[in-house]
Amino acid sequence: MTRSKSDELRRGEAIKASATPSLLAWYDANRRDLAWRSRPGRASDPYRVWLSEIMLQQTTVAAVGRYYRAFLKRWPDVKGLAGATLDDVLSAWAGLGYYSRARNLHRAARIVAHELGGAFPRTSGELQALPGIGGYTAAAIAAIAFGERVAAMDANAERVVARLGAVSDPLPKAKKRLLGLAAPLVPEDRPGDFAQALMDLGAMVCLPRKPLCKLCPLTSECEGRRLGIAETLPRKAPKPDRPLRRGAAYVALDKREAVYLVKRPENGLLGGMLQPPLGLWKADFPTPAVARRYAPFAGQWRKKLGVVRHGFTHFELELEVYVAHFDEAPSGSGQWCLPARLRSVALPTVMRKVIAHAVERARNRGQLSSARTR
Ligand code: SF4
Repeated sequence: MTRSKSDELRRGEAIKASATPSLLAWYDANRRDLAWRSRPGRASDPYRVWLSEIMLQQTTVAAVGRYYRAFLKRWPDVKGLAGATLDDVLSAWAGLGYYSRARNLHRAARIVAHELGGAFPRTSGELQALPGIGGYTAAAIAAIAFGERVAAMDANAERVVARLGAVSDPLPKAKKRLLGLAAPLVPEDRPGDFAQALMDLGAMVCLPRKPLCKLCPLTSECEGRRLGIAETLPRKAPKPDRPLRRGAAYVALDKREAVYLVKRPENGLLGGMLQPPLGLWKADFPTPAVARRYAPFAGQWRKKLGVVRHGFTHFELELEVYVAHFDEAPSGSGQWCLPARLRSVALPTVMRKVIAHAVERARNRGQLSSARTR
C-alpha cells in the first residue's frame, strides 16, 4: 500500500482530533513509573532525560534501571559527569554494552559543561551536534525536556504508528513514512507526554505479538486492526547473516589469583576497556601451537574445554581460553587485577565471561591449587 506524504499528513490530521486526546488520557491513567521520568506536571531535567535516553539505546528499560540510578548517585549533574575520568565512566558502564555510548556520553558531558556553560541545547537540531545523539535521541530530549513539537520514534512508537496507519513497507526503510504519519499527531501543549505515551502504549498494550487491542485507546482509529494485519506490522527487512570470528584469549593468574589485564585501544570496538590479552580474530581458531606462540608471556598455557561465545552487532565471536599460572607475576604493560577489584573495573561482558570460564573451570577441576605449586 503506497500513500503520498500529503496523504499521510491529511490522514494524520484527520485522526489527530480523536487519537491524540485519547492517547494522552490513557497515558495520564497508565504511564509507567520510570526512574528518569519527572512527576506528572513537573518539568523534566535535561541531564536525566539525556542520560536515560543514551542508556536506553539498544537496551531494555529493565537493564537500564540500576545503571541509571548508579550514575545519577555518583554524578548527579552534567558538571559532575564532565569532571569524571573516562576510565571511571567506562567502569560504571561495564556490563551495559555498546561502549561507544559511554565514551560519547563523557565527551558530550565535557562539551556541555565546558563549552556550553552547563546548559544542554534546546532544539532537536542543535542536540544532534553533540556526540552520541542521533535523530531519535535528539527528538526525545527536545520533546520531553524542552517541549519541542517533534515526533520521537523509538521501536515501541514505530510499532504503534505502523499499525495505526497500516504501513506495510519494511523497516528501516519505512522510518521516514512513520515519522511523517506521527508528526501531525504531536500536540502543541504536551509533546513530551505524547512521545512517552506512544512509547508506553507500545511497551504495555501494542505488544509485538498479540497486541491487546481491546485495552487500546486507539482502537477506533487503527487501520492495521481494521484490516486484520496489525500483528504482522511493522515488517522488517531481513537482517544479513552475521559473520563468525574465532580466536584465543589468554588468562594469566598469579599466586594471589590476580588476573593480568591490558587496555584496548581508545578507538574502535570496546575502546578503552580492559581485557585479558587476546590473539587475532579469524575465520577459525588457531591451533594450540600457534595460540601458544602468541601468548603474552612464556608459560604453561593450557587450553580450557569449551568455548566462550558472544554476539556483537555485526559479528559473532567465539574464543578459546588458554590459562597459565605464575608464581612470580611477569611484568608487562598491563595490570594485575585482584579478584575483589574485578567487579569495579571497566571489563566488558564478553571479557567477564572469558575470566569466569577460565577460573571456574580451573576450580572445578582442582587445577588452581595444583597449578600454584608449579
Ligand atoms: Fe496496536 Fe491494537 Fe491499538 Fe492498533 S488497536 S495501536 S494494533 S493495540
